[in-house]
Amino acid sequence: MLTNTQKRTQAKRIKRLCRRWLRALGLEQWQLSFDLADEHPLKGHHDNAIAYCSAQWEYMQATIVFSPKIVDLDDSKLEYVFLHELTHAMINEMRDWDDRDTDAAMRHEERVVTLVSSALQRARNGVA
Ligand SMILES: [Zn+2]
Repeated sequence: MLTNTQKRTQAKRIKRLCRRWLRALGLEQWQLSFDLADEHPLKGHHDNAIAYCSAQWEYMQATIVFSPKIVDLDDSKLEYVFLHELTHAMINEMRDWDDRDTDAAMRHEERVVTLVSSALQRARNGVA
């Protein structure tokens, strides 16, 4: 459970990331919500999950929920998690293409999201 001061600090970090990234990612038109959960692990998610994204791509809406564990992340790791979850939002509509094997489809999505979010962060930081 985070204190109110910790919650405010984390909200500021997330706001900073929004200012740094939302326009660059073309997401200013989306309705995005960022929440901080009171508990870890995040209910219904993998024990190690630091955040999750729930999106309704057809309405360009997404909610990113962060676990209290984000207090342990340095700025670079938090930025990566932020980008990872927003990348899930951006490619969310691809989930509708194949509902035969959801587990396999999610593994493909995770790999693509990991690759793209890492690439975005490296590109923004000017890593060749
Ligand atoms: Zn993911």
